[in-house]
Amino acid sequence: MPEQRNPSEIAREALKRLAERHLAPTPANYQACYNEIANLPNVMPFPEPPLRQLAAGLCPRGEVQIAQLSRLDAAISGRSWQGVQDALQAYIAAAAPSQGATQLPHEVSTALLQLFEAVFPAFGRDDLHFCAAVDELLAALRVTPCEFSRLEVVLRNLAGLAPYAVAEQAEIREALLKLLHLIIENIGELSLDDAWFKGQIDGLLAAVEPPLTLRHLDEMERRLRDVMDKQSRARARSVEAQEEMRKMLSAFIERLSTMNESSSAFQGKIEASARQIEMVSRLEDLAPLLKDVVSATQTMAEETASSREQLRALQDRVLATEAELVQLHRELDSASSLARHDPLTDTLNRKGLDEALEREISAVRRRNTPLSLCLLDIDNFKRLNDRLGHEAGDNALIHLANVARACMRPTDTLARYGGEEFIILMPDTTLEQGVEAMVRLQRELTKAFFLSGRDKVLITFSAGVAQLVNEERGSDAIRRADQAMYLAKRAGKNRVFGA
Ligand code: GH3
Ligand code: MG
Ligand code: MG
Repeated sequence: MPEQRNPSEIAREALKRLAERHLAPTPANYQACYNEIANLPNVMPFPEPPLRQLAAGLCPRGEVQIAQLSRLDAAISGRSWQGVQDALQAYIAAAAPSQGATQLPHEVSTALLQLFEAVFPAFGRDDLHFCAAVDELLAALRVTPCEFSRLEVVLRNLAGLAPYAVAEQAEIREALLKLLHLIIENIGELSLDDAWFKGQIDGLLAAVEPPLTLRHLDEMERRLRDVMDKQSRARARSVEAQEEMRKMLSAFIERLSTMNESSSAFQGKIEASARQIEMVSRLEDLAPLLKDVVSATQTMAEETASSREQLRALQDRVLATEAELVQLHRELDSASSLARHDPLTDTLNRKGLDEALEREISAVRRRNTPLSLCLLDIDNFKRLNDRLGHEAGDNALIHLANVARACMRPTDTLARYGGEEFIILMPDTTLEQGVEAMVRLQRELTKAFFLSGRDKVLITFSAGVAQLVNEERGSDAIRRADQAMYLAKRAGKNRVFGA
């Protein structure tokens, strides 16, 4: 039976023991001595405030650490040392997959899953082994927790197959290019007599060369469309013309046969009259026969004359149709080359601009990058025309287009918007950068004079630049650029305003 002491005795004894042992008179030391003397178990006091401070100082990263931090909180509130220890250990384990870790942190496996799910469809589903390996990898990443050992196996398998899949994609691209080459060459051979076609085909063949970029493919598509437009229109018109010719030819043959009929009727009549004439003995009997012959001859002569008339008219119509076909081909030539390009400056025309704008807008929306467009209008162009002549005016337009092309980036697009107005599309360009680019073009024009005969002519322009805003239509951005350009004119011309 332990000796029972009263608390004030134990307290006194405890103070004595503190002094004997030279312990600092802290509450914890005092309590330890007290417990020892009272024969009580020495339970350490639970340090809640410092533990809370420690928990508050932790910066959890990822769901696992966040969960462990609330476990730690709960353990502190429940004053459970074991809980605190477990939560802290799990928190540290989630911080980095150390050598001992066997599982991939959840957020990492989710990110990898998203990445692979986005990338693998690009390889297609032709290679069954590769597809199976991909599916295995994705399945392994979907399992929570994702074990390193499993991941390693499926990754090794996939890594072995990946080079073949990549090589196959490259081969497919090459084969497609070859095929395209073949088709284009074939189209070219079908229409070798046509100079416009030949130009387009050469352009296409030059475009079908690696590297295969989206821009490259766009250009090819535009040219192919022109070729196809022209071919279908030419075919439709020539079918029509053939039909016309066929009708004329059958009318001609019909005419010939009626001529034949009337001439054989005439011949029959003459022969019958000749026989009767032979048999006639009296002169008065001959008179009516001769009248018959004369009238038959007259009818024949009239019919022949009218047939000749009709044949001549037919011939004229054939010649006219032929001439029309030649003219049609000529018109088709210029219409086709006009389809998307301005023939004077070789920049895109309105139709080409509309397509390019649509393409650029969807590209910047996809990539979430800025797109700026500039509308420029040559200053006092009417005066230049009046002073130097229309041809010099035309050459000035060509000069401006050439200088602009030379100082633009390859990704920019130049289009003729109207008489002496141009639009430049500038992808990946903010408003400020767009204005800077136009100021650079102004500077270039002061260095690269336009030569009209021996006259050095300074061409200046006024410009408005607009950066496409969210959901804005291309035409609205052009309108804003146009307003800014108008303000630049009002402010004295030869300046660039941002919209
Ligand atoms: P501003 O500085 O206000 O723009 O005056 P401007 O004279 O340039 O403008 P305006 O619109 O009065 O005149 C434009 C002129 O451009 C009128 C037209 O004859 C001429 N023009 C339009 N297209 C062509 C073209 O293809 N060739 C030539 N040589 N001139 C053209
Ligand atoms: Mg104008
Ligand atoms: Mg002008």
